[in-house]
Amino acid sequence: MTTAAPIPFTVIGGFLGAGKTTLLNRLLSGSTERCAVLVNDFGEINVDAALIRSHDGTTMSLTNGCVCCSIGAGFLDTLARLLDDVGRFDRVVIEASGVGDPWRIAEIALVEPSLRLDGVVVLADAARIATQCDDRRVGETVRNQFAKCDVVLLSKCDLVIETQRNAACAVIRAIRPDVSIEPLSAVTPANQAVFGRGQAARFRSDPVEETVDHESDFRRWTYRRDGRFDRARLALAVSALPQQLLRLKGTCMIDGDAGAQVFQLVSRNWSLTPAEQDTTAAAETIALAGVGTADLPSDRELDAILDRALTAA
Ligand SMILES: [Zn+2]
Repeated sequence: MTTAAPIPFTVIGGFLGAGKTTLLNRLLSGSTERCAVLVNDFGEINVDAALIRSHDGTTMSLTNGCVCCSIGAGFLDTLARLLDDVGRFDRVVIEASGVGDPWRIAEIALVEPSLRLDGVVVLADAARIATQCDDRRVGETVRNQFAKCDVVLLSKCDLVIETQRNAACAVIRAIRPDVSIEPLSAVTPANQAVFGRGQAARFRSDPVEETVDHESDFRRWTYRRDGRFDRARLALAVSALPQQLLRLKGTCMIDGDAGAQVFQLVSRNWSLTPAEQDTTAAAETIALAGVGTADLPSDRELDAILDRALTAA
């Protein structure tokens, strides 16, 4: 009997909207490795998994919960199924939820003999990271994501001026003076900023099991409708959404458009882009998954805001 070599295990983390899916698509589109990609959406709909382009491997979604604080049940079952078939994949990549602690997921590879931790990569939005780290409601979650990562990738550098970029780096350096910070735009599958780091031994598995509960610090909201938005009314409705809503994303139909649109909201900025493929994650024509702080208004109140953007049936 031969023992297969452990599979490299990469964890990608970063706060809501930092660009994790963008990074994954960039890596997968140019990689010749067969990757098993596990995507943890905090929301109820597997939006991120649906937005990942097809690649030479498999994509599995872990929805409706934060894997880092509920390791067990679904996640370990999924991982065990992957590892049963060890020869099928060259790498396991996990996209942590936007509120999750990537290191807590990485620790699995330190105790599972068939895995070898290759790297923990955390994305930071160059325009927002300084504010996020300072934020009374989300700051601790954001800062903890950097505590034990191998590299920080700074996203959206093209959208900020140099002083903002420097401020973003300074905030990250204050948490991790030693960490390497690279622009996301420089990452290609070949440059080994992400895959092939082989830096497993930098941190030890933490014997003290501190309690983390992202489930009670954050709240999810799902908006599903069989209908279409009016573009102008949608703009008004989105501006009426409360600031406790940190992220909203998914697919929707806009009146007058032939195909589905991908809706993305991060903080107060939002966009609609034509869906590249059939990314409809649900049977409904509108399926949006939101994440907010624990004091997010009720689903009914939030639903009522977006309902104002629907076209008359
Ligand atoms: Zn968690």
